[in-house]
Amino acid sequence: YYPHPKSCIYKLNSSVNISHELRTPLTLIVAPLQELLSNVTGHWEREKLLYIQRNTKRLLHLVNQLMDYRRAELGIFELKPVYANIYKRVLNTFLNYESLAKRKDIDYNFYSELQDEDVLFDGTYLDLIVNNLLSNAFKYTGDGESVSVKLYKENKNVVLQVIDTGVGIPEDKQQKIFERFYQIENGHEGSGIGLSLVQRLVELHHGQITLVSEVGEGSTFSIYIPQDKSVYSADELLGSSGELEGQRVYSTNAHDMYVDDVEFVEVEINEKEEGSKHGTILIAEDNEELRQYLSNGLSAQFNLIEAENGQQALDLLKDNDVDLILSDVMMPVMDGIKLCKSVKQNLRTCHIPVYLLSAKVDVKYQLKGLQVGADDYIPKPFSMEVLIAKILNMLRTRYRIFEHFSNTAEIEPDKITSNAMDEEMLKKAIAIVEKNISNVEFSTEQFASEMNMSRSNLHLKLKAITGKSAIDFIHKIRFNRACQLLKEGKYTVSEISFMVGYNTPSYFAARFKKYMGCLPTEYGKK
Ligand code: ADP
Repeated sequence: YYPHPKSCIYKLNSSVNISHELRTPLTLIVAPLQELLSNVTGHWEREKLLYIQRNTKRLLHLVNQLMDYRRAELGIFELKPVYANIYKRVLNTFLNYESLAKRKDIDYNFYSELQDEDVLFDGTYLDLIVNNLLSNAFKYTGDGESVSVKLYKENKNVVLQVIDTGVGIPEDKQQKIFERFYQIENGHEGSGIGLSLVQRLVELHHGQITLVSEVGEGSTFSIYIPQDKSVYSADELLGSSGELEGQRVYSTNAHDMYVDDVEFVEVEINEKEEGSKHGTILIAEDNEELRQYLSNGLSAQFNLIEAENGQQALDLLKDNDVDLILSDVMMPVMDGIKLCKSVKQNLRTCHIPVYLLSAKVDVKYQLKGLQVGADDYIPKPFSMEVLIAKILNMLRTRYRIFEHFSNTAEIEPDKITSNAMDEEMLKKAIAIVEKNISNVEFSTEQFASEMNMSRSNLHLKLKAITGKSAIDFIHKIRFNRACQLLKEGKYTVSEISFMVGYNTPSYFAARFKKYMGCLPTEYGKK
């Protein structure tokens, strides 16, 4: 009896839905558990909680892997190979295991001959393959051993190798490990799905997988990805026409679950300083229980503003200065994708990082979010500590950018902005100030009007991108020019002060000293 294809789809849909239904309540187990763990001091209690946590995570990982496997089996992952930089793609996944390598003191290396060449592959497939192979390599390789990844071309194939010097696989088991649910009894946790998924994905990619292994010596898995276009169907190659290309360059976010499977996530949160909050977060979440949970978890470190849907969130953004938006994807009235899109398409708000939170691990949903400019996609369930650490990292990155802006003479729009709209606005701002550099009358009013912005919006925007006010921004550009001119040594200080828009040399000298730490004459001599 072969089920009708439609019943397969039905089953798939229901299994995807069930997994979806499983993930949300699991959020409410895993996350508070993590919190309990960080507060519990008794050794016995801690052991038990760790045990619960380990098994809950295993369950989750199993759900995820089953979903992946079923989707691969039913061809839901459409193969869309495109020409792209495989080195960068693999490096991304590679780096996700770096901290684990450090902890296990594993000699972890990446060799590539394909840095500067675009080759044919499907990024989503590749991410899943590399994640599974690396997660296995780390699982079955002891402390102090080595794991490496190699990328090169051989005949008409791109070859990806994951090599470990771990426990190895007995010869009589080497065929079997690719079977679904097959595991070698060795005291390690696992589901037996990983390698069968890898093999299925490699087959769907028209490639081959080989294994060379010896017990006690280690294992080498090699994946051959064909470069001969004729092995792919016309449909599959459609992706390279350009239209689909952009949709498929994002990572699957799946690495979290693979790393989690091997690694116990330890997050240190040192920043719980009394009284000082790290910024303002706007939470958009329709589920009251989850909103409450988020607010409880985040309120100690951040100022919070809460909205029940995307529309409310947009309204709140109008008169609140927000450092980060944390939004559910599925919400009534306006969903998270639409909210993100509006935020990112509005110059006033596009610098605000948006984290989308959703139970749907489906790549398509993640892509949608990332395509409208979301800064990260956080699959439910998430651990509160990991979420907090992610938010703090993001905020810290911004402070680092502000520091970079303060410490460098040149303003580098591409380095300090995170999206095209901000970059363009910053370039325009620089051009306007430079055009007016000797204009003594040039004010922030004129600046704003040439920017087609209100003065307060210009101020807020520059502050958000550079950490500095509009007036400081103007000063910075003027002093940079002054420094250049002083270095050239062709003009006197008073000439230079007029050239950079100061009508009195003494005011120029005083401001210059404040800004640069020395007088213009001293600077010229140095
Ligand atoms: P699991 O979830 O059990 O790791 P896999 O399908 O990924 O499932 O792997 C199947 C079996 O293959 C594992 O139980 C393990 O015994 C063996 N295996 C996989 N990768 C390696 C490796 N790099 N080194 C040694 N054994 C491995």
